[in-house]
This record gives sequence, structure tokens and C-alpha cells, in this order.
Amino acid sequence: MGEKKPTAIALLSGGLDSALAAALTKRLGFGVVGVNFSTGFCTGQGRCDTVLAVGQALGIPVRLLDVDQEYLEVVKAPKFGYGSGMNPCLDCRIFMLKKAGELMEREGAEFVVTGEVLGQRPMSQHRRALDLVAAESGLGDRLVRPLSGRLLAATWPEKQGWVRREDWLDIQGRSRRRQLELARQWGIEDFSQPAGGCCILLEKSYAARLRDLFRQRGPQALTQEDFALLRHGRHFRLSPKAKLIVGRDETENAVLEGFSRGRLRLEFPDVPGPTALVEGPVGEEELVLAARIAARYADVPPGEETRVQVLGPEPRVLRVRPLPPDDPRLRELRVG
Ligand code: SF4
Repeated sequence: MGEKKPTAIALLSGGLDSALAAALTKRLGFGVVGVNFSTGFCTGQGRCDTVLAVGQALGIPVRLLDVDQEYLEVVKAPKFGYGSGMNPCLDCRIFMLKKAGELMEREGAEFVVTGEVLGQRPMSQHRRALDLVAAESGLGDRLVRPLSGRLLAATWPEKQGWVRREDWLDIQGRSRRRQLELARQWGIEDFSQPAGGCCILLEKSYAARLRDLFRQRGPQALTQEDFALLRHGRHFRLSPKAKLIVGRDETENAVLEGFSRGRLRLEFPDVPGPTALVEGPVGEEELVLAARIAARYADVPPGEETRVQVLGPEPRVLRVRPLPPDDPRLRELRVG
């Protein structure tokens, strides 16, 4: 396709739009390097595999970058606030584009492309939001949205004369028809379907747990481990400073064991039961309540007591009766 053009960095999510944006950029003769960021909040098994498969199908290299630690700061204090859950979408886009900009410098690339489509998502992809993200990320006209490029202001590649306005597409709105048609034409098959969301911060129960933790301990005190633990088990607030976390199945029990350090662990030596963790300082009454809640999820014969082993700095054994399933505390203390 004519003379060799400069290189672009393409944000790849594993979805169709970002794959098409990268594909179009490549078809226009630019070198393309794909990038995907792992934030620690991503959902969906095999997402990285999908991104790599997209890269392979397009014939472009892909950089998978781990940004977990830095991304926490975005979640803790987003300048533009949260969406319906605890998803700081605008700040998240800005953060990722800043990172893409750094990669652009390192790779000697000239601009960054994304699969954003004008008007596709009411909160984050209307014209003002697109402009804001371009400005705040520091990319300015180096940020290109090829799928809607004909409808947006001229960007760096156009100003340099590497492309004409009509080379970009004019897709807008929520319909996926044209994208699916292009995928067929260009033979792009390996992409993930847009599902409920790519990010656990959107999930109602995770968001509720995170809000609770922000309230009780303050965002800045939270560690990566705190955020990770919120993903697993049933959570109960015992007091402003203490929580109980109860595994829901064997896999989760094993995961919770991995979080035992610095927490009390409750086990059931006599009956099949969950692994449970108690976090924060607890008095005798709260510890017994925690054991009774956890016992509610163990196979204790009706009306009987069971032993609960408390593992921690001072191991001991409690004898408790499970809370009845209709005890209002199960509902009142549950978080998320
Ligand atoms: S849904 Fe999550 S990953 Fe996607 S833009 Fe919003 S905060 Fe970022």
C-alpha cells in the first residue's frame, strides 16, 4: 500500500471495535503495535488470549502491560467520579491513553488509535467526553478514532497528509451492523462479544463492597490485597472495623485460605463447611456471631451445635449453633 507510513499504537480490548480500528489503520499502510492493559479489575477468562488472537489475526505485535498498582490510584480517587457502579470510566480511559502515550514515545510511534465510536456509549463516548479524554490524556490530536474519524476534528495523521479525511469511517451510534459487516469483509473472527462489561467495578455487589470499605477505612488505606479479597465470598460487616468473609464453594474456600495472613480463619473440623475469614479486631461476642454465621453455611444437622476452629495468633475452638436461615442479621449484615 504505497510508501511506508509511521507506526500507531492501537488499544486492543479483545472486542470487535478496537480490532477494526487497528485493522483499518493497518490497511491504510501504517505500522501498528497493539496494546492491552491489565488493571486487576478485568473480568472474563482468557481475555488476554483473545487480545493475542486478535493481534495474530491482524498480523501485528501486541504488548500486554500490567498496570495493577498504578490503576488503584485511579479507582481510589477519580477526578471525574464513578459511573453506575464504582467504575471510573472517564478517568480510566484517560489513564489508559496516558499509558498508551508513554508506549507511543517508547516505540517511536506517531499516534494512538482506539475503537471508540461516537455516541455508542452515552456516558463515555459522546462528543464532549471524547474531546475531554483527548485533552486530559495529553494526546490531543495524536488520539485517533478511526471508526468515527470522518465525524470528528482532524487529527495528526490527517494534518501530516498521511491520510485523507475520507479514509476514516463515519460510524456512530449503538448499532453494530456496520462493524459486523466490516468484520466479515476483512475476515476478523476472533473477538469477544460485548457482554455485561469488561470490568468488575461495574458489578453491583462488588461496587457495594468497595463503597462499604471506602466508608469504613477510607480509600487511601486500602491495599491491592483488600481490593482482591472483595472479589471472593459472602461479605458480612460485624462492626465498623471488622468483617466476616465466607467462601461459597470449594474453589473460593481455597482462595480464601490464601488470604489468611493477618486475619482469623474459621474452619469446621466435624462437618463439611466453608472456609471463613475474620478481618479486623473482634471481641468475643462478634467472634461467636461470625462463627454462627459461617456455620449457617456448613452441613450442621438441624438443631445441633458444631465445633469451629479459630486459627490465628491464639488458636482456639468454639462450640456454636448456626444462625437460622431466616435470622434477620444474615440480611442486615450482608454487604453486596
Ligand atoms: S468499564 Fe471499567 S475498564 Fe471499561 S472504561 Fe469503565 S472503568 Fe475502565
